Amino acid sequence: MSIRLHLTIMFIWEFLAFIAAAVVAIWLWVGQPFPIGLPLMAAIMLGLLIVTLTVPRLVFRRFIGARCPTEGCGGTARPAGSSPIRYVCGTCGHEHETSWSENVRDHHGQL
Ligand SMILES: [Zn+2]
Repeated sequence: MSIRLHLTIMFIWEFLAFIAAAVVAIWLWVGQPFPIGLPLMAAIMLGLLIVTLTVPRLVFRRFIGARCPTEGCGGTARPAGSSPIRYVCGTCGHEHETSWSENVRDHHGQL
């Protein structure tokens, strides 16, 4: 897949994971399926938030690569760096800079 498609899917995937975590958090809060205390519930919500912000990105960065944009290379380019996000080809070493930046992680870093 192209770098643009890879980036788009990565962000959509992260967004969906975040929504899923929010739904689970609301379900825990409103539905209260388990008789757990507030501190534990808060810890579970925080854990969910961290996992959903980190895991999809890690999976995408480690295991799913984009196609290197260099003509005739066909190598796998993986994301590196965060602002902006760069793609580095594992075959030819070409570095492709995107206009995307990881705002979610930047925001997360401020928490
Ligand atoms: Zn390449």
